[in-house]
Amino acid sequence: MYQMLFLAALKIAAPQGFDDWKYMEPSFFLFAIPVVFLYGICIGSFLNVVIIRLPLGESLIKRSSHCMTCGAKIRVIDLIPVFSWLFLKGKCHSCGEKISPRYPIVEALNGILYIADFLVFGLTANMFIMCIFTSILVVVGFMDWDTQEMDLSVLAMIVVLVIPSYFVTDLTILERLIGAAVIGLPFFLIGELTRPYARKKTGEDVRGIELGDTILMTFSGLLLGWKAMVPSAFIGILFAAVFGAILKKKSGESKFAFGPYLCMGLYIGAMFGTMLTEWYISTLPQPETIEYVSNCILFR
Ligand SMILES: [Zn+2]
Repeated sequence: MYQMLFLAALKIAAPQGFDDWKYMEPSFFLFAIPVVFLYGICIGSFLNVVIIRLPLGESLIKRSSHCMTCGAKIRVIDLIPVFSWLFLKGKCHSCGEKISPRYPIVEALNGILYIADFLVFGLTANMFIMCIFTSILVVVGFMDWDTQEMDLSVLAMIVVLVIPSYFVTDLTILERLIGAAVIGLPFFLIGELTRPYARKKTGEDVRGIELGDTILMTFSGLLLGWKAMVPSAFIGILFAAVFGAILKKKSGESKFAFGPYLCMGLYIGAMFGTMLTEWYISTLPQPETIEYVSNCILFR
């Protein structure tokens, strides 16, 4: 329903049509950006439910309507994403018990990420696909952070997105298949090769790179293609190395979730990865340059 309202609102705001969004009036953006943000935080509110209830095996549809501490009924006015939390100053209206800032953070994050998707992809069908992908990444990232596990049904949603993506982007099937293998395969091999060592060290059946991370990168490769995947993995691993080292120093724990960093890498890679790879390829010596240089050397 949000999707329909959102489209209707933008249709009113953008009578020029959806294609030339880049040349639209600034007033369009003044209207569209808050709409995209509100849309994002409403979806973010649902993502909170998924992140918390899915690992517990609870229903996603049934809303809890009582405060967890005092049992006071949650009012309709307390259900507005982000704003209710700010209005209540992060406390229950009845007993004053603290409400976790995680809720507004996830909501606001989803809203901000949607704005960036909108600005990068424009008002296109691909933008909607990328917004859904963004939300999947938010869920996967936070769930992995909490539980060190990924939910296969959430990851499978990425594969579902490949179908519409095939019809609205120029990515070929070959580019997608290479995208699935280019990171997925090395991740799988590293996981398998480190398995005996990790088992000896921890006594559990674990891998250096968990299967969830491997599946995430394989499925995302099908959606984004190899040109986006290579920078995605690079950025993700870089983030993991930097933030992982900081967190390790702080907490002293050796185990940490790789997923959140991969998700950050994938989000950035989905927006700019293809561009980065194409730019990088353009800086490499082209075949005609190599021929020219070798001719110069041979026939000087
Ligand atoms: Zn309460």
